[in-house]
Amino acid sequence: MILLNPKSYAPKHLDAESAELMRKTIAFFEAKGKVRLKKDDRERVWYADFLEFVAKERIFSKLLTPSQYAEGDPATRWDTARNCDFSEITAFYALHYWYTWQVSILGLGPIWMGTNEAAKTKTAALLKEGGIFAFGLSERAHGADLYSTELTLAPKGDGTWVANGSKYYIGNANEAALVSTFAKKTDTGEFVFFAANPKQPGYELVQNVVNVQSYVAEYRLHDCRVTDEDILSTGQDAWDSALNTVNVGKFNLGWASIGICTHAFYEALKHAENRVLYGKHVTEFPHVRQLLVDAYCRLVTMKCFARRASDYMRTASAEDRRYLLFNPMVKMKVTTQGEQVIDLLWDVIAAKGFEKDTYFEIATRDIRALPKLEGTVHVNMALIVKFMKNYFFNPGTFPEIPSVHEARNDDFLFHQGETKGLGKIQFHDFQLAYAKVSTPNVTVFKKQIDVFKQFLIASVSDPSATALQQKDIDFLLSLGEVLTLVAYGQLLIEYRELHRDELSDDLLEQIFDFMVRDFSKFALQLFSKPTSTPRQMELCQRMMMKPPADPGRFQRIWDEHVHPLCDAYEMSP
Ligand SMILES: Cc1cc2nc3c(=O)[nH]c(=O)nc-3n(C[C@H](O)[C@H](O)[C@H](O)COP(=O)(O)OP(=O)(O)OC[C@H]3O[C@@H](n4cnc5c(N)ncnc54)[C@H](O)[C@@H]3O)c2cc1C
Repeated sequence: MILLNPKSYAPKHLDAESAELMRKTIAFFEAKGKVRLKKDDRERVWYADFLEFVAKERIFSKLLTPSQYAEGDPATRWDTARNCDFSEITAFYALHYWYTWQVSILGLGPIWMGTNEAAKTKTAALLKEGGIFAFGLSERAHGADLYSTELTLAPKGDGTWVANGSKYYIGNANEAALVSTFAKKTDTGEFVFFAANPKQPGYELVQNVVNVQSYVAEYRLHDCRVTDEDILSTGQDAWDSALNTVNVGKFNLGWASIGICTHAFYEALKHAENRVLYGKHVTEFPHVRQLLVDAYCRLVTMKCFARRASDYMRTASAEDRRYLLFNPMVKMKVTTQGEQVIDLLWDVIAAKGFEKDTYFEIATRDIRALPKLEGTVHVNMALIVKFMKNYFFNPGTFPEIPSVHEARNDDFLFHQGETKGLGKIQFHDFQLAYAKVSTPNVTVFKKQIDVFKQFLIASVSDPSATALQQKDIDFLLSLGEVLTLVAYGQLLIEYRELHRDELSDDLLEQIFDFMVRDFSKFALQLFSKPTSTPRQMELCQRMMMKPPADPGRFQRIWDEHVHPLCDAYEMSP
């Protein structure tokens, strides 16, 4: 069973204590029940009950304190494999609960990545007391442009500073024990991260800028006193820890999408199965089966890809930075796939998706947030495009990465180093994975990849087109979609090689059915770009291929994978 089912949650990849923490979390939500969950959502109730539970069970303390500050407790460590499960479970119940965890992760990033040991020890103690954290990076006027940060830290001349300015869109900044705040020093112009405290004089909580259960704050600092004890990092280190924190955090957005889609999937399938129109179950309509099989295949792929990407996160090092491609893909590709899954399911359940007592109603709202947070899809795609040349034409040699789920701390995530040099990062040859499969749809997909490589070679050998297209972000974003799709399929196959019991040949083939269709769609987009050349257009047309149909396989996927889930899960009332 690939998809999370809270009723039969039995994670093979977690140690007993971690699995128990997850089970307790599931039990908390099931005891709360769907009626109360929806009421709290509707009435925008601050989730104090969840935070009390988290504090009592020391969940954030155990999951978010690196081993070095765990006072010898092996259950306390930063372990991406189990953090993925926690993200998936919390979002499965509602994105708000995931969000308070997520922004705590972000808030902790600059603390654990900094050099202020006293702040780290204090933070470990605050986590034990049930503290939550916040990440004050964004400002109202600047969005992705961090260079324009306006919040300032000015020296007073006695070794202390005063902070002035405001931050916008900062989750948890109402209740956080500490708010990691990004600023500019007025004397040197350097960037700096310091820890603000919502209870300190001069910290003004201006408003919640959103209209949901979460508190996404605007806060303003008025001559706030900052001392050495509060400084987390300065200069290049502060800049790097801003971006490296986002590297860690954005991974969880994909897991949130997986959690949301899984709950929505169970609800939609159950509804469709039990609805009878013209004397037939809705699930008997061929187009409804197609929508549900597509939704299932896309969701399974999201999860297998994200799980495999976690292996690369956990084995990353200064010499192996492949995670910098796979991680933005979990953020960008998995979350946009999540939107597609909800769209497909919504077409099946139509009016039901609006009803106030469904999970689906909040899924349709929340699934949209994930591609937009922590850098938009464009920002992440602009990052991914930098890897194109080395990914396709200059592979490196790396040891094979196994499935990484042992109980250990992920030290490197807090020592990622400088954030530059992305164009120099190498990857292992993606063809190694594809060479392992020769089923009909994968074979067509490999042909599409071959034509795309010809497209890239033709593009660089036409200097006038290159000059034009390198400045055309719109064109580059479509190119990036194809690279992303190739790497998406690659890690899926790698996952399958490591977990053969989870993905049958049939399922892999059905997945590559939508992958071939998506490839053709992106080829058409590239074809249609204003700057595409006649040669590029010709190659785009050759990239558009049709997945070989196999009605028997489709039927088996329906009978053996999708349909049996119609009664698999329903949340306690
Ligand atoms: C509910 C919510 C919670 C949030 N929580 C936090 C939080 O806790 N802490 C925090 O610091 N922030 C937080 N944010 C801010 C969030 O991370 C940003 O809003 C998000 O990254 C998008 O930025 P923006 O809307 O300002 O877009 P902008 O940066 O204004 O972008 C505008 C447009 O330009 C494009 N663009 C910008 N730069 C590039 C580029 N380099 N390449 C290509 N295209 C580009 C974008 O894709 C977009 O289309 C939160 C936001 C929301 C809505």
